[in-house]
Amino acid sequence: MEPILNIENLTKIYGNIPNQTKALNGITFQVMPGEFLGIMGSSGSGKSTLLNCIAAVIQPSGGSIAIEGKNLSSLNGKAMAEYRGKKVGYLFQNFELLDNLTGCENILLPTSLHNLPEKESRLRLNRLAEYLEIVDVLDKFPMQMSGGQRQRVAAARAMILHPKMILADEPTGALDSKNAKNVMEKLSGLNRNEQATILMVTHDSNAASFCKRILFIQDGVIFHELRRGDETQPVFYKRILKVMAQLGGGSCNVL
Ligand code: ADP
Repeated sequence: MEPILNIENLTKIYGNIPNQTKALNGITFQVMPGEFLGIMGSSGSGKSTLLNCIAAVIQPSGGSIAIEGKNLSSLNGKAMAEYRGKKVGYLFQNFELLDNLTGCENILLPTSLHNLPEKESRLRLNRLAEYLEIVDVLDKFPMQMSGGQRQRVAAARAMILHPKMILADEPTGALDSKNAKNVMEKLSGLNRNEQATILMVTHDSNAASFCKRILFIQDGVIFHELRRGDETQPVFYKRILKVMAQLGGGSCNVL
């Protein structure tokens, strides 16, 4: 099987000599179709830099990022727009919904930008809304929704174009533990049932315990990798906490 994402020896240096920061110092990993991969690390370890490089928001200083075998740096304007808009779906800590659009309009926004036929868009909307339990907020504005509902609307928007991969940046960061758990259950269901490939950066060990594999980064390098085997989620969670303790950070919420 071909990886969806192939990252080789990625480096990112901010600033100029003598005030340089090496935020990524040779990161190599792959994401296979259907994976749910977590990236963890303490503050300043390079997580956002890595995600921003993958999202093509910033350019790496060295190494390569390939999506389905195509190097990101070789994509021209149109192919890059397609990559950012269609191949990748985004979930952010603060949801990033448009306040003046309803839930439904927010979710359908990418479909009009990318000319998905209306009938197909509606079909996908209904299916996602039902699964994510947001049918009753589709006509509401974000201000009228709870944080959990907003994040589930954002998840529907991220999924509506059937992206190859979802990039999630601290998706539970602004949620209380009950809503965080609910959002993670939904994301993990999308991964299991719809084969959605998810790459999630998180500080939250609870959220990370839903992943199948976790890469821990420290000072811009991969410091450790955990794979969830047959163990239960609480056992996996404890293994995550142990690594986070070694890194000197992370949440200690109890499941
Ligand atoms: P994390 O997301 O894990 O907190 P970041 O990727 O934000 O880590 O940062 C990694 C390192 O790069 C840190 O030392 C940070 O101070 C530095 N850094 C991040 N963004 C910039 C920038 N735009 N200019 C200079 N240094 C930066």
